[in-house]
Amino acid sequence: MLLVCNQAFSQVVVAIDAGHGGNDSGAIGQYKLYEKTVTLSIAKKLAALINKDRSLKAVLTRDTDRYISVFQRSEIARDRKANLLVSIHADAAPNRSAKGASVWVLSTKRADTELGRWIEQHEKQSELLGGAGDALSEGDNPFLSQAILDLQFSYSQMVGYDLATDILQELVKVVTLHKRAPEHASLGVLRSPDIPSVLIEVGFISNVSEEKLLRTDAHQNKIAQAIYRGIKNYIKANPINKEKR
Ligand SMILES: [Zn+2]
Repeated sequence: MLLVCNQAFSQVVVAIDAGHGGNDSGAIGQYKLYEKTVTLSIAKKLAALINKDRSLKAVLTRDTDRYISVFQRSEIARDRKANLLVSIHADAAPNRSAKGASVWVLSTKRADTELGRWIEQHEKQSELLGGAGDALSEGDNPFLSQAILDLQFSYSQMVGYDLATDILQELVKVVTLHKRAPEHASLGVLRSPDIPSVLIEVGFISNVSEEKLLRTDAHQNKIAQAIYRGIKNYIKANPINKEKR
């Protein structure tokens, strides 16, 4: 008997967000390397690795040097049904000896603010909860929808943290780390209550030796491969149930 299982063919969609772009160049190194250039280059390398893998599919929030708002970035990921979102950035600090990569996840404080904002917007709420959102809005039970949003947010945070940990475990093999554990922040795209998101600072563009490294294809490839392996390890240990979205 032949059993047809559609699940086997469903791909995990990974949104890759190249930080900054267009008029927003992000940090600029002493030798004029722009953050927006490095982030796009690494994002494209990572997308290529992901798209070579039949179990995954990459979606880039931008694939050219153009400006998109932080809000649009999560909208693109949501429209393309992303299961995970990985945002690529490069760090900068007044202390030019600061160096190394770090991975950031949504802070609970920011999660609460965002949750409040989403609860006020009924339309958004239905979008966020899919079909369940419509039923809940019609049922007019704000407490129930709040409870579900709350659960969804906690789930995203948990996935984000575990994914960040797996990515760090691979990054440590190829680059210096600035922070060895995921950090919590209220940065940019780390605001989607429904899509587990991580933000990777690939190194300090304000550090001359890291600026030099970040400019090279070899170093960018190493970073892209480490992020890819981190994502794979995460998915292997925690298969993503596509029915959830
Ligand atoms: Zn940045």
